[in-house]
Amino acid sequence: MKIRLRRPRSAPPAATPPVQQPPPEQIRWYVPRKVNRCPSCGESQWLVGRALAECGHCALALPIAR
Ligand SMILES: [Zn+2]
Repeated sequence: MKIRLRRPRSAPPAATPPVQQPPPEQIRWYVPRKVNRCPSCGESQWLVGRALAECGHCALALPIAR
């Protein structure tokens, strides 16, 4: 039994949804005891937890550099 495979179109439409997370090379870190500007909104007030720091303005979460 032979399975017929469809050929992909020469120009597939851009059906991939927009990526919400930045690519890995753009991930920033929250560095303790430093002024950390939020990469999203530019504010510098953070709610610092054990593993993540969250921007107090736009709630962007960044991992904390150790
Ligand atoms: Zn922010």
